[in-house]
Amino acid sequence: MLKTTLIKVVFLWKHFTFEAMQYFIDVILPIPLERLFTYSITRAEHGFIKPGMRVAVPFGKNKIYTALVYNSHQNQPEVYEAKAIHQILDDYPIVNDYQIKLWSWISKYYMCTLGDVLRAALPSAFLLESETIISKNEHANIEDSKLKDDEFLVYEALQHQSALKVNEISNILDKSNILPVLKRLLEKKTIVVEEEIFEKYKPKLVRYVKLNTNYSSDEALHRLLENLTRAPKQSAVVIALFSLTANKSKPIKVSELLTRSNASSAQIKTLIDKQILEEYFIQTDRIQYSGAENESIKTLNLYQENTLNEVIQSFKKHDVTLLHGVTSSGKTELYVKLIDEVLKSGKQVLYLLPEIALTTQLVNRLQHYFGEQVAVYHSKYSLNERVEVWNQVLNNLDKARIILGARSSVFLPFNNLGLIIVDEEHELSYKQFDPAPRYHARDTAIVLASLFNAKTLLGSATPSIESYFNATKAKKYGFAKLNRRYNDILMPEIELVDIKDKHKRKRMKGHFSDRLIEEMTVALQEDQQIILFQNRRGFSPIVECTTCGHSPQCPNCDVSLTYHQFKNQLRCHYCGYNMSMLLNCLACGSVDLDSKGFGTEQIEEEVKTLFPDYKVGRMDLDTTRGKYGYEKIITAFEQHEIDILVGTQMLTKGLDFRNVKLVGIMNADNMLNFPDFRAHERSFQLMLQVAGRAGRTAERGKVLIQTYNPYHKILQQVSNNDYISMFNEQLDERCNYKYPPIFRLIKITLKHREYNKVNVGADWLAKSLKQIFNTNVLGPEFPPISRIRNQYHKNILIKIPDNQSLSKTKEAILKIKNSFMSVKDFRPIRVILNVDNY
Ligand code: ADP
Ligand code: ZN
Ligand code: ZN
Repeated sequence: MLKTTLIKVVFLWKHFTFEAMQYFIDVILPIPLERLFTYSITRAEHGFIKPGMRVAVPFGKNKIYTALVYNSHQNQPEVYEAKAIHQILDDYPIVNDYQIKLWSWISKYYMCTLGDVLRAALPSAFLLESETIISKNEHANIEDSKLKDDEFLVYEALQHQSALKVNEISNILDKSNILPVLKRLLEKKTIVVEEEIFEKYKPKLVRYVKLNTNYSSDEALHRLLENLTRAPKQSAVVIALFSLTANKSKPIKVSELLTRSNASSAQIKTLIDKQILEEYFIQTDRIQYSGAENESIKTLNLYQENTLNEVIQSFKKHDVTLLHGVTSSGKTELYVKLIDEVLKSGKQVLYLLPEIALTTQLVNRLQHYFGEQVAVYHSKYSLNERVEVWNQVLNNLDKARIILGARSSVFLPFNNLGLIIVDEEHELSYKQFDPAPRYHARDTAIVLASLFNAKTLLGSATPSIESYFNATKAKKYGFAKLNRRYNDILMPEIELVDIKDKHKRKRMKGHFSDRLIEEMTVALQEDQQIILFQNRRGFSPIVECTTCGHSPQCPNCDVSLTYHQFKNQLRCHYCGYNMSMLLNCLACGSVDLDSKGFGTEQIEEEVKTLFPDYKVGRMDLDTTRGKYGYEKIITAFEQHEIDILVGTQMLTKGLDFRNVKLVGIMNADNMLNFPDFRAHERSFQLMLQVAGRAGRTAERGKVLIQTYNPYHKILQQVSNNDYISMFNEQLDERCNYKYPPIFRLIKITLKHREYNKVNVGADWLAKSLKQIFNTNVLGPEFPPISRIRNQYHKNILIKIPDNQSLSKTKEAILKIKNSFMSVKDFRPIRVILNVDNY
């Protein structure tokens, strides 16, 4: 009897616990936590929540974060009590399983947390948190009546204070859970999330006018015109506007109205003040598709056709194929063909480019073929624009079938991807350097494509040693080649100019050899354009006192300050520190200051003196800030408003200029002597790419390379356009010195303000690593610039042979890192892991 009762009780108890079953979700928080974090949810929420949705959650004492749901389950966490979520923020997932899989791969492979990946992946407007700064959207026309009470309170507060932290807003509303309110305001475009880097950028606004709605009836308009009979000019404006509106349904720009009515801006303003006209603004984007007629896709020539077939055949056996096609061979036209095929099957295409190669030139070219299906995604875009593209991709809309994007577009929520093109695949800027995730977009793209069983095409005129190795030696990738320029234009003729000899024989004017001046003169006389390449910006990188030898240094970094003549400043290129140019030496007071080395600014100056009758432009980091800074210079050059363009490596990025006859490389040596195992490969690529800008149409181009060392083997290889001997020689060296692609690299960087702390910590860490990896640990070593922004850096390099398990290696490193971090003295040291260091 007793027994059965007991059984009954147990049964009931079990039943009871079942009834009170608790529900949990694991979420990714956008902070570098090693693990997922668990929150409790109600049963109703459990029925609704899906992985990939956002939730607002409390964290720590009084922080609120936007987190992403990873999974849901019923296991209470053992070591902490799960807090309840504040609220579900989405009606449907904003990322899908593919992204979560990709993120997990990134986090494992690049040794970072899922939180790091989340932060990099989502546009920050998706990730509101307590510290986020919110401000009013200055460009929105907001109707108070459309705002709910709580929304209005926020809006009103922002009228008085231009920017508020989420925290502060939550005090104003007197509730902790305000993310949903902010989300609604964002959707109504009432508020914007502060973007530190881009606050200086103002979207281009075009001013439009319309007739006040009071005058929309014929009768009212009649009366208005009668009233205006004594102001004939104003009346003419109204009539002009009326006729413009009648002829086209589009909004009328103020500028159009001005031309049509011959009125002055003041007259239009009067009409606006009188509330007869209404002005409004629309944000325009040069990249917006203008609706121009579609062009049909170009017919490939025989060589291109053959190569396209090679690619298609190769894709039957390989998921990844490398296309080695010389500059101006028509790689882009080939991509277009492939894209067209994939689009027909209803799939999405990702077209990756290095950030600064992403120009209106290319966007326009693709839009001509594919119209509105092309969407652009890169960091110079505003948050709203990025959110829009995100949603278009998520919903697989026709508006975003082809994503033309920089590095971070590998994170977009694709759900039906068919093809990825990685153009200029050799570009180092595909690798994110800081902060984590330190991912390589090319390699990540390959993994992304594989999740969809999609193909990846890597394209370059100067492939990376890694990819060429993978294609031709390791046979991991397929390979296709296109070694003829379109229209059979010859590759430019490359001439090496020995400036040591020229100096000796007094044949130099400033930094220009007589040969360069001769060729420039000829090109200019023929009305051709010239590009001059110098891999340094500023005027001169070192200012030196001729009396005592002192040169001004950055107070925060271990580098000399660079002289910028235009602003008459000394600037640090690492931290941005600047001061006015010195009149006297800081150490001895002497006025004899000399400058050494030269940058783009100085070249520009010299060109102006040498060729005073011609227009000179400069393209480097200093002249291309702002959203369209770069575009403006390119357009000016395209339109031949500039005859001679001086620039840094920005010039090398896939630009298609019609009229450039001559390219001058001012000094090849500083590239070649750079202390990095990739310096030679990189110099080869830079020089051939910039050379490739010459003679793209009709006439054969000419390239002059000035150097102190014309017998340098890389320069010989460049002048013979001999990629293969460059590759073989570099591969030998990589083999001998244990570098990629033969070995893999993981770089560990320690950073701290105190020199000693970094030293002691690095020694400890290197010693522990050597116990496992022996001689494959290099360092610790200070890099050439050992202090940046007041932080000392010290590096340890781990070389991983092919036959050593990568995942086990990483496990061992993480274990050692954890014991390092458990030493109290070392805890303040930042330890940065960089896998496949570039
Ligand atoms: P790459 O990307 O290899 O540098 P592009 O695709 O930019 O070369 O081609 C160079 C130029 O030649 C472009 O202006 C392009 O429009 C033109 N071109 C290439 N192939 C063709 C073709 N089959 N028909 C017409 N023009 C072409
Ligand atoms: Zn001095
Ligand atoms: Zn500095």
